[in-house]
Amino acid sequence: MKVVMARKVYGMLENVRENIGYYERCGLLFGELCGNEIYITEIVEIENARKSPSEFELDPVQTLKAFERAERDGMEVVGVWHTHPLWIPFPSLKDREGMRVYPGVWIIVSESGIKAYFGSEKGFVEVGIEVTGSPQ
Ligand SMILES: [Zn+2]
Repeated sequence: MKVVMARKVYGMLENVRENIGYYERCGLLFGELCGNEIYITEIVEIENARKSPSEFELDPVQTLKAFERAERDGMEVVGVWHTHPLWIPFPSLKDREGMRVYPGVWIIVSESGIKAYFGSEKGFVEVGIEVTGSPQ
């Protein structure tokens, strides 16, 4: 299993990494599941309702709107992303609980790296990120 995204989309994560900020940043991943590959076509940022440097909660109103837009544009919500301003890009205990409730792709961005995981009620595994397209 791997995550595939265009360089332009990956660039958004790199931009987040360069502007990690004090509070955790978070949002949703739009795309589609294709067998063992998960295509991410758009990354949406949503306000962190917790305003915390160590946890996040997607603002519920913005989340609902994002789900509506994904459906309207024929995309699926394939996962979530968030930052770890103070820690490595590895799932915290709270993230692991979240993966059980919201299975799918979890991308974690920290200053030390960008990592993707596939989480479910059975646990989580790290998955590779393939970036396609030419560098600009
Ligand atoms: Zn986390």
